[in-house]
Amino acid sequence: MSEKIFGYAGQILRIDLSKKKILKESLRKDFIKKYIGCTGYAAAILWYELKPKIDPLSPENKIIFSTGPLTGTLCPCSGSYEICFKSPLTNAFGESRSGGIFGPKMKYAGFDHIIIEGKSDKPVYIWINNGEVEIKDAQHLYGKTVHETTEIILEEIKEPEASIACIGPAGEKLVRFAAVMNDRDRAAGRCGGGAIMGSKNLKAIAINGEKDIEIANPEKFYEFVTEAEKALLKKTALRRFGTINAITVLNAMGALPTKYGYTGFFERAEDVSSERLLSKYLIKRRACFACPIGCGRYSEVKHGIWATPPHEGPEFETADMLGPWIYLSNLEAIIKANYLCNNYGLDTISAGNVIAFAIECYEKGWIKEDLVKGIKLEWNNPETMIELIKLIAKRERIGDLLAEGVMRAAEKIGYGAPELALHTKGLEMPAHDPRGETKIMAIKYAVEYRGGCHVHSGFPGLYDRSPESLNDYGLKQFGLPWPPKGKFIEEGKGIAYRFFAIFGQIPEIMGMCQFASMGSEGNMITAKDYANIYSSLTGIEMNEYDLMKIGERVYNLKRCFNVREGFNRKDDKLPKRMYEPIATGPVKGEYVKNLDLMLNEFYEAMGWDIETGIPTFKKLKELGLEDVAEELKKI
Ligand code: SF4
Repeated sequence: MSEKIFGYAGQILRIDLSKKKILKESLRKDFIKKYIGCTGYAAAILWYELKPKIDPLSPENKIIFSTGPLTGTLCPCSGSYEICFKSPLTNAFGESRSGGIFGPKMKYAGFDHIIIEGKSDKPVYIWINNGEVEIKDAQHLYGKTVHETTEIILEEIKEPEASIACIGPAGEKLVRFAAVMNDRDRAAGRCGGGAIMGSKNLKAIAINGEKDIEIANPEKFYEFVTEAEKALLKKTALRRFGTINAITVLNAMGALPTKYGYTGFFERAEDVSSERLLSKYLIKRRACFACPIGCGRYSEVKHGIWATPPHEGPEFETADMLGPWIYLSNLEAIIKANYLCNNYGLDTISAGNVIAFAIECYEKGWIKEDLVKGIKLEWNNPETMIELIKLIAKRERIGDLLAEGVMRAAEKIGYGAPELALHTKGLEMPAHDPRGETKIMAIKYAVEYRGGCHVHSGFPGLYDRSPESLNDYGLKQFGLPWPPKGKFIEEGKGIAYRFFAIFGQIPEIMGMCQFASMGSEGNMITAKDYANIYSSLTGIEMNEYDLMKIGERVYNLKRCFNVREGFNRKDDKLPKRMYEPIATGPVKGEYVKNLDLMLNEFYEAMGWDIETGIPTFKKLKELGLEDVAEELKKI
């Protein structure tokens, strides 16, 4: 590798909030070689720097804002940054991606990663301007919403081009599924990064910069990213209708998560459809930095009791989790709820999950009246949803219980609640039901390092869920079983998922949006495309096989992080409801039959021990992770 690092900013900013110490460190070339960047690099930092078994909300935890080499370049969909930390929801490896402009601004300010450690004795925010760093008082910002915080900071720093990532009241109150919000409405929502910021008394990071990203071979790079852009422009449905289009698509399949997973069919789905959003509430499409797709929706409700100012949303997950998931079809109320979650800084997926969970627990008589105190805990009640969002964000009354996340709330409620709670490893399940959609989602939910997650690493749902539209994600050349056997056939899903788990790491280590990497050759960015783009950007020659090997290394490292925290096969499980038949609709009666079979297949394909689900010494050695293997031996 040459001395010059093309494509990267070349520096890490480390801020110890306890000591008010600011350090600038050079990017480690050995880490770039092994892990590329973004969540790969951050996983290595957390592996080597975090003590095992720490309390995620203690000053010992770190939160790392990370970009990848492609972040902020001309590559389409390269507006991403990710936050990595030990999650307060799962006690496992936590990561969450967001778009907007914050990631590119980090690179332009001169930093690939920002590591925040310790805890400030009073609320602060950090202002980073072209490499200059200041820790500023934020006492006047505490209690402010995300939008208020953003406007006040922009006014104070007098730099309208700056990007602000901040928490709202939910993060301050340590709601375990609080989000980090940037550019007002973009969310790094999952796993509770907002609570980590809150635990450190860090209200916000404001950032601006104008430095260039140097490209090793500009001509080649431009050629490759132009091809990538042409491919992504073929995603016409996503461009036109946004992700919310999935409401009616999944409903037609009988796989739209409805009434806390009771069924996959919602008879009022049209009321929550993309067409309805488009015709009545959409102002315009919104795109993250350098994105030709623009899946973001910018909407408002002009009049009436649900009147809501213009903001981004709702996308599919939010529309389902705050809609059909709680048996609700009032799109205006969903838009309002989305706005409130963004402004309080709450993950909409986890919020919808705990609200529906509470309603079902109450229906079953497991939540006592005195805890509810006048709130009508019932399905299809928009007022209840809005009230609960406010109570959760402020940790008031029943909201204090639900702010703990569904796993901890269930343990406190008792009765049959722990069995009912829809999560894996403590992360609330999102709006993709493996029973009706495709069984590959079952193995994904069970094994994912961050818990019940549909999109990290990669969303494999398009592989085989529709016989008319199978998608190989460019993975056939690596051995992905093809053609798929059928979405309800469980045999072989564990083998197939191995390829998605590994490939899904590539956009994450590059600093890219996952939507760019779903589909088939010709309408997505494949591993080969990434290799070409990366090589021409950085001058580090790499082919698609090298890149898949790095993806495998990073996936294993994140798994090892969890193993060191005590996770193993016993934690790779699904909630009880996934083994119960879908109650109504086109795929009535479908359920997960044999997770063990899929687990065995997956572990074997990954080279992990089948009994324990732990990566073997041999596999870790093959991946150049001998020291990681040695540390695991001590457990
Ligand atoms: S596809 Fe959507 S989420 Fe991804 S970069 Fe584009 S606008 Fe952002």
